[in-house]
Amino acid sequence: QAPSNFSTDFSAAGTYFSAGEGESQCSYSILVKCGHCDKNLCDVHFSDHRSKFQTECLNLLSTVEKDAKECEQVSAKLQPWKAQIKNLIEFIGKKKEHLEKLLRATEQRLEQAAAGSSRGAETEGLKKSLQSFQLKEAKAISDRLKAATAEAPKLESKAFGSPPTSEQKKEIEACKSKLDTVIDTATKTCGGIQNNPIAANNCYVSKP
Ligand SMILES: [Zn+2]
Ligand SMILES: [Zn+2]
Repeated sequence: QAPSNFSTDFSAAGTYFSAGEGESQCSYSILVKCGHCDKNLCDVHFSDHRSKFQTECLNLLSTVEKDAKECEQVSAKLQPWKAQIKNLIEFIGKKKEHLEKLLRATEQRLEQAAAGSSRGAETEGLKKSLQSFQLKEAKAISDRLKAATAEAPKLESKAFGSPPTSEQKKEIEACKSKLDTVIDTATKTCGGIQNNPIAANNCYVSKP
């Protein structure tokens, strides 16, 4: 039983009939059913068709094999970078934690120092009330100052270093720029950072 699109007009024997996908069928009567596409083909066109498919497969194989080799090389290049990036993130994470603790401790000392400075301003009041024999007021101020002084930690300037010198500031800037260079190099070497296509789509969709 010939398929419906197969010509039974024998006057057209040997002529091609388009099967719609660039394949041709002819009206030779010895038919072979092709396993890959279910088309009925004559011996001549079947072997032609088969070798075309084989060539296609060979091309596909060589493309896939070449791609696989490229991918292995890409992995070999990226794996050690991944390790370096993770290592750097861990290092920066620990240092950031340390710096945040240092910031909190420094802020706390600054608050204590500010409180100590403002106690200094109250001494004027105590002096004045002593001079004018306002002893009740002097007692109140002195009680307050005594309690505050007993509570407050002693901050001695000699326990601390100097404000950052221009050399130290330069060192910090150099360190930042070195880190910038390292991260830039890693970014370029690893093929850069692509924009997330899903995020980009969402962004596009959300536009009116
Ligand atoms: Zn086929
Ligand atoms: Zn044929």
